[in-house]
Amino acid sequence: MTQIAFIGLGNMGGPMAQNLLKAGHRLTVFDLSPAAIETLADAGASVATSAIDAVSHADIVISMLPASRHVEGLYLGQNSSGETGLLPHIRPGTLIIDCSTIAAQTAITVSKAAAALGLNMLDAPVSGGTAGAIAGTLTFIVGGDNTALERARPVLSVMGKNIFHAGTHGAGQTAKICNNMLLGIQMIGTAEALALGVANGLDPQVLSEIMVKSSGRNWSLELYNPYPGVMDNVPASRGYSGGFGVDLMLKDLGLATETALNAQACIPLGEMARNLYALHSKAGAGSLDFSSILQLLQSSTKD
Ligand code: NAD
Repeated sequence: MTQIAFIGLGNMGGPMAQNLLKAGHRLTVFDLSPAAIETLADAGASVATSAIDAVSHADIVISMLPASRHVEGLYLGQNSSGETGLLPHIRPGTLIIDCSTIAAQTAITVSKAAAALGLNMLDAPVSGGTAGAIAGTLTFIVGGDNTALERARPVLSVMGKNIFHAGTHGAGQTAKICNNMLLGIQMIGTAEALALGVANGLDPQVLSEIMVKSSGRNWSLELYNPYPGVMDNVPASRGYSGGFGVDLMLKDLGLATETALNAQACIPLGEMARNLYALHSKAGAGSLDFSSILQLLQSSTKD
């Protein structure tokens, strides 16, 4: 089985790493949070004392970090605390798979620096949320070359059930950013419709059942309902904890804005969505799940 270094064991990385362990891979893990490391240690992973320590014997390095600056900081060492970059410490020939959602330009820059050291790198952001990470049913949206993808495939298949090759380095990120812009817009629309119905006396459960069988049907409504109590096992029914944070959605919508500016494209609804999540975050909801945008819409609804 493959020796894998897994760095970043948060809401997504934690369960992804667990699935690799269950499939029999040997894992050495690292995270800045001791609590995140402990969960994986309990599941049988070896614990590294640093990211450099984690990669020393790895055939494959996987990272799952919040944003571009964390990925740049990890691999290139370009962060404010002056950390040493990881790339020179990875053995030539090792495959690097970064699953974080980051700017396409950052993915390109880091993969070029990796290639200069004989390391092949893929951008492989995911879709499917924490439930998909736990169930091993994520969708991987990959950018990079075919040879690297074929080498990664057996490992990605343990964590996901759909693997798409979007194109060259950075293309995985661009496709993921388009998807998440649509998700952000769709969640706001879904929450807006539910809040409107409830403000007019409808039961959110009944309204959801109606819309799931009607033309308003969508992923947020059907699988990630933002109204508390309509569905079990979604963040809305546990105080909007866990899941995909408002600040992470805000980050992705910021990436959509950058992507639009690069191509001089118009994203009027994407910009509106970014502003609404920014308002929600400024009101103190940054660490709640993104479906909590319902609260912002409800707070602006007359009682
Ligand atoms: P998270 O904040 O729960 O986890 C990130 C982890 O990275 C944390 O445990 C943090 O301690 C660790 N970390 C940060 N910098 C580090 C470093 N230098 N070295 C080691 N560890 C470090 O985030 P998440 O929800 O797991 O999301 C991770 C990525 O996946 C993000 O880019 C996000 O946009 C994307 N994503 C999230 C979801 C979701 O539903 N949560 C879905 C799809 C994609």
